[in-house]
Amino acid sequence: MKLGVFGAGGRMGRSVIRVAASAGAQVVAAVDRSDIGRDAGLLVGAQPLGVVVGNQVGALEVADVVIDFSAPDASAELFRWAVEVRKPVVSGTTGTGDDLEGAIAALADVAPVVVAPNFSQGVTLLFELARLAAKWAGPDFDAEIVEMHHRAKVDSPSGTAVRLAALVGEAKGIEEFPHGRSGQVGARPDAEIGVMSLRGGDVVGDHTLMLAGPGERIELVHRASSREIFARGAVRAAGWVVGREPGLFSMSDVMGLG
Ligand code: NAD
Repeated sequence: MKLGVFGAGGRMGRSVIRVAASAGAQVVAAVDRSDIGRDAGLLVGAQPLGVVVGNQVGALEVADVVIDFSAPDASAELFRWAVEVRKPVVSGTTGTGDDLEGAIAALADVAPVVVAPNFSQGVTLLFELARLAAKWAGPDFDAEIVEMHHRAKVDSPSGTAVRLAALVGEAKGIEEFPHGRSGQVGARPDAEIGVMSLRGGDVVGDHTLMLAGPGERIELVHRASSREIFARGAVRAAGWVVGREPGLFSMSDVMGLG
């Protein structure tokens, strides 16, 4: 599989370049707005790959599939280009909001796309377990979500927490997700799921779903200790998506859990 990496110079982009070879993928193009002109292999402290980081999305055309870990405006640009050339994309960029939904849908009409706020296998399992637990626990159990990430993370709450809240909300018929509570907010209403964000140090990513009932509490916890899990999951998704029919897929689809 010939891989293009968008956001190649970032923490995740570098991790993708590092794990690609061991997952049987060949990095053939790397794009970022920084580190331009540097060899992608040397960038990650490995042997030279003979692939120079460029700043034009068009350089990704030689790839079978593009992995994107960048920023919301950058992802929007990538998706617009990918629609034109019908390029499969695996995107993990978070904090993208509703603006990107149309672009993702447009690409999914003409090429296969995997979008996931979290490419770890463990979190994909957590999503499925959370969905079931929320449904089975029923209305006696209040759901709350706590996430913690490193101090450099720029979006909040995490895309994973947003997705977790949406899944649990769907199972419980709830659409209100307050991000933190402060002041005289009154007693907790039944129909909300609080999402709390902590930031500090180098925490790769922790997510806890609490289901708090009368006299007891269930906690489903996932802790990531290495960024590589996301990169490995994204490369696995890239291998899975090449050659598929157009459509929008999740990491649960990639893992066969959907
Ligand atoms: P980062 O800031 O280290 O890297 C982002 C990279 O994108 C940078 O190198 C930056 O120069 C590049 N970039 C920004 N705008 C660009 C543009 N217009 N054109 C080309 N390149 C551009 O961030 P990171 O920690 O690597 O995370 C990247 C994204 O991935 C974030 O949204 C983060 O939340 C998300 N993320 C997702 C998962 C997942 O599993 N889905 C896991 C970790 C991080």
